[in-house]
Amino acid sequence: MNKFISNNPEESKKFAQDFAEKILTEKRSKKGALVLALMGDLGSGKTTFTQAFAEVLGVREKIKSPTFIIFRKHEIPARSARAQLWRARQKSKFKYFYHFDVYRIHSEKEILNLGWEEIIKNQADIVLVEWADKIEKILPKNCVKIMFKHLKGDKREITIS
Ligand code: ADP
Ligand code: MG
Repeated sequence: MNKFISNNPEESKKFAQDFAEKILTEKRSKKGALVLALMGDLGSGKTTFTQAFAEVLGVREKIKSPTFIIFRKHEIPARSARAQLWRARQKSKFKYFYHFDVYRIHSEKEILNLGWEEIIKNQADIVLVEWADKIEKILPKNCVKIMFKHLKGDKREITIS
């Protein structure tokens, strides 16, 4: 368990970027995609975290909340300076960044029907899921859970487990 208190959006972005660099350079098991399960209320900072994480990967498109379309798939460019930094230390190569927002779904089936199993099987995928508690049953066991809590004003608590 790793707890962080952020006082403003900039601190949250910095935290997300440091976390991204760390997790992307860590050795990982050969089992499937890297899945980050983001949980927390509206306005707690899930999308802010996702945007900062994507920046480290060099994703060029703008990351917006995909609430109305459930997910967006972004290519991770091969020639990003920062991408090379961690790729050099990684055996498997990440190619796609998936951003899910499952706020509006009514059952896990809706996600399964979008090819979920294939996505999380692929070593080349990084998958961030907002409102992941809604699909807890189909999250891979080795996913990283990140909890966001709205404290007073601009304060946010981020817990990683
Ligand atoms: P979510 O995706 O969880 O609904 P967002 O990241 O879209 O949350 O929104 C968070 C909102 O809160 C943004 O408008 C952001 O500017 C604001 N905010 C204020 N303080 C913080 C903070 N410390 N960390 C993250 N966001 C913050
Ligand atoms: Mg959001």
